[in-house]
Amino acid sequence: MRIRDRLGRIKRIAVYGHIASFLLVAAAAFAWFVTAHDACLYLGFFAMACLVGSVALGKHGARCPRCRHNLGSLTQYFGEKPVLLLRPVRFCLFCGVSLDEPHRP
Ligand SMILES: [Zn+2]
Repeated sequence: MRIRDRLGRIKRIAVYGHIASFLLVAAAAFAWFVTAHDACLYLGFFAMACLVGSVALGKHGARCPRCRHNLGSLTQYFGEKPVLLLRPVRFCLFCGVSLDEPHRP
């Protein structure tokens, strides 16, 4: 596994966490509005905590395995090919290691 693959996996997990927890917050709020059960309120709080956790993972989870600096707050895309205006990051912005090197040499 390359460094790029690992960083991309962390970003994907964070984005899927954003989507799932936001949908769960919306569903819990709607169910609480309709039924007024306390369980829906607690589920909404749990989903809100998951949303905060996924945001924290996206911002602070993608770190360079060599220098441990945070790359997740500086770039959102670790793919190999350009997509729209997003260009691929080729090197770590802090230590200069190529993202195509193996994660564990
Ligand atoms: Zn680095």
